[in-house]
Amino acid sequence: MSTVRTIEKIIAPPETHWVGDGFRVHNFFPHGLDQQRMSPFYLLDYNSKHKFPPSDKPPGVGTHPHRGFETATFAFKGRVAHHDSRGNSGVIGEGDVQWMTAGSGILHKEYHEEEFARTGGDFHMVQLWVNLPARDKMTEPRYQAIVNSDFGKYHVPGDLGVLEVVAGEYESVIGAASTFSPLQIYIGKVKTGAELTFSTPINYNTALLNLEGNLRVNGEEIPTDNFVLMANDGEEFSVAATDDAMYFILSGKPLGEPIAAYGPFVMNTQEEIRQAMNDFGSGKFGQLD
Ligand code: MN
Repeated sequence: MSTVRTIEKIIAPPETHWVGDGFRVHNFFPHGLDQQRMSPFYLLDYNSKHKFPPSDKPPGVGTHPHRGFETATFAFKGRVAHHDSRGNSGVIGEGDVQWMTAGSGILHKEYHEEEFARTGGDFHMVQLWVNLPARDKMTEPRYQAIVNSDFGKYHVPGDLGVLEVVAGEYESVIGAASTFSPLQIYIGKVKTGAELTFSTPINYNTALLNLEGNLRVNGEEIPTDNFVLMANDGEEFSVAATDDAMYFILSGKPLGEPIAAYGPFVMNTQEEIRQAMNDFGSGKFGQLD
């Protein structure tokens, strides 16, 4: 029989900071939490819904490196364009996800897509850093551009909306993303009255972010843009929508490995961080204007 996973902490959105001039984000972790607390997830930046004015110069963040982990970028409103040092480029459309494995190293830049920038409008997104196990940190970089129609979809009985399964599994619906360690990511897009139960192994680090509307988690009210850290004391919790609502759930098996992180690099040791800085400095991550 499964036991209840209780709420450990409800975290109101922290002060925003800017990533470049295009991403106005609340950082829910690692700031404010132990850096192992959400392993295998290392960082969550949340651009709560924010209206950007029209601009002829797309706002964003210029060329920067990454090594040792994956970035998963979820666009709920607005569109994000990206270019990298391996010649890849693309646009993350509304409702889509880009899952980028930085692995051994990549340079990239991330901007509002040109046409979206020109008209301006609501921008709403999540960027999640998924740490890689030590054995996979230097894997070849790769992309998974996952459009909304590729997601597994669980239809909430009673025509009460949909649970998008991005990674992992829910009620035999399989997620589209391939991952290096066991994890689940769901996006609920549900109507008033939808109530779903989630169950993941007790040791999986688990949290929910309320993206829109009002929710009750295990009966407790969760305001919009709040982050709910679930305890590791049981498996099962419930999420009920008291409004039409949208939410993001992440749960994963902790890697159980040391973390050495510096800026855009997430490794296991300080020596590997020094190596990453040397490799970046000597041009081993490639070229991108
Ligand atoms: Mn980046």
